[in-house]
Amino acid sequence: MKILVIEDNPVNMKLITSILKKFGYEVYQAEEAESGIAIAKKELPSLIFMDIQLPKMDGLEATKLLKSDEGTRNIKIVALTAFAMKDDKERALQAGCDGYISKPIRYKELLDKINSLFKESNESSHGSDE
Ligand code: MN
Repeated sequence: MKILVIEDNPVNMKLITSILKKFGYEVYQAEEAESGIAIAKKELPSLIFMDIQLPKMDGLEATKLLKSDEGTRNIKIVALTAFAMKDDKERALQAGCDGYISKPIRYKELLDKINSLFKESNESSHGSDE
């Protein structure tokens, strides 16, 4: 399963990537929204971990673009929000994110989020995922 990580903080990027690779996911990386969107369109990952605070275009704007594009709207997006930023979480869901996790990143929370999203997807009657 392909997962794209859009994150401008190199420490977080390295941490998330190492966790995902350890558990067998095929990881793509982008440090900003514009290149992330290009990768999303080309590779069509199943999931994107989207940092909210990015240089230039932010993660919310990028999410809205991906969710309004027929080619990418079915990609699940999990926002990476700053700790204790309650506004960020609400804004992430309003922008169309399928969920969020708070920094600092904990590997169990990351994996639990993936599992719950794709379990829900399988049990959903909407069948919108691929
Ligand atoms: Mn950031």
